Amino acid sequence: MLRIAALIVAAGRGTRAASQGAGPKQYASIGAKSVLARAIAAFAGHPNIDDVKVVIHADDRELYERAAQEAGAATLSEPAIGGATRQASVLKGLEALAPSSPDLVLIHDAARPFVSQRTISHVIAALGEKPGALAALAVTDTLKRASGGVVTETIARNGLWRAQTPQGFQFAPILAAHRKAAESGLDTFTDDAAIAEWAKLDVAIVEDSSGNIKITTAEDLEVADRQLSRSLEPRIGTGFDVHRFCEGDHVWLGGVRIPHTHKLEGHSDADVVLHALTDALLGAIGDGDIGQHFPPSDPKWKGAASKLFLEDAVRRVRERGGRVGNVDITVLAEAPRVGPHRPAMQALIGGVLGLPADRVGIKATTTEQMGFTGRREGVAAMATATVFVPASSDL
Ligand code: MG
Repeated sequence: MLRIAALIVAAGRGTRAASQGAGPKQYASIGAKSVLARAIAAFAGHPNIDDVKVVIHADDRELYERAAQEAGAATLSEPAIGGATRQASVLKGLEALAPSSPDLVLIHDAARPFVSQRTISHVIAALGEKPGALAALAVTDTLKRASGGVVTETIARNGLWRAQTPQGFQFAPILAAHRKAAESGLDTFTDDAAIAEWAKLDVAIVEDSSGNIKITTAEDLEVADRQLSRSLEPRIGTGFDVHRFCEGDHVWLGGVRIPHTHKLEGHSDADVVLHALTDALLGAIGDGDIGQHFPPSDPKWKGAASKLFLEDAVRRVRERGGRVGNVDITVLAEAPRVGPHRPAMQALIGGVLGLPADRVGIKATTTEQMGFTGRREGVAAMATATVFVPASSDL
């Protein structure tokens, strides 16, 4: 079996695409994951790749650790620290891989997060025939050369290709070519195929898909983000909760304190509305229930404001790249009356979920004096939530 390594170049300082303070573009987020995390996951998830190594800038260690965690990759080895140019960074990465002497290496720009499994497979396959292989797109636009804003020449596009990554090579010859280029003081190669050409290694063209875009500007990030949200799928969760009345003078419902002849008994503030709603959100993402995350046996949650539980469920939704669409709640009680407190509940819940009032339904009904709520033994609440999450876990 051939040993195949992937080398992802992420040492650049390009900040054109980053929002203020977010650092270089490869660490900016698309949906719930950074650009680099997506690139790592693409290679780490490919069945023929044995080792993934990232070349980073010395200042980016913390950002890298976060991206590595997001990628959830098991085959990620210790990152290499890059050099002053892209070419120098690749050489440092190749030197770091040299002790494990892989047969093939696929060199990839971190700024291309959407490389497909198919492209990776095709580049690997092409290396069976040639020492190098390059993912590329045929030029379809007419090309003009201009000078002083005026066209001076139309260039025949026949046979012209746009070089992308990954670019794959037999490991020993590309390492030798990179070393020789550095020793010769040549440091202006903009991709590895150019170094291979200079070293007289044949490089095969592998036709890529147009989806393998390079994130360069803030607009690229926005477009990628929009494309991703189109692939969100709706999920529905439901929740139900009951607490019994005991001696007291107020109840908590929907995060609002309501004066009453009794209070609701419970370990926390016994807010049935927020408990049912928390369970609905957890249910929509299949992430257990409120009792699992906040066990009543844990003294930490004694008297806790249930808003905390709801905030935690929202955090879990967002960690998956998800967003809440709407929620709908029904309170079952003979008393107290919910109607007068509806706007306050909508404001509180909407604040936690980031939703306007028309996406926070709050309704109430009696049970016609039947059953435990009818006998005024307690209050029950039911909740439904829609949540939108990325359609596939590999997105
Ligand atoms: Mg409860």
